[in-house]
Amino acid sequence: MSLSDCVKCWETPCVCGHEYKNYGTSDKIELLRAILKTCSDQEFQEICKEILSVDFDEDHVIEIQYKE
Ligand SMILES: [Zn+2]
Repeated sequence: MSLSDCVKCWETPCVCGHEYKNYGTSDKIELLRAILKTCSDQEFQEICKEILSVDFDEDHVIEIQYKE
């Protein structure tokens, strides 16, 4: 355990969201940008498919809906 462990999930970085719930929009954008800029296009598509209901054709996102 370190001082940065999340008090809810005990992971570093937090994977349950608790550590980020009080982040402002710009802080969330900065965090997501830091993660996403490490992704290849294929990883980005895989992430979107896992988190969102999203369809891609060869080169384009054709539909995005947030999963419940
Ligand atoms: Zn957590």
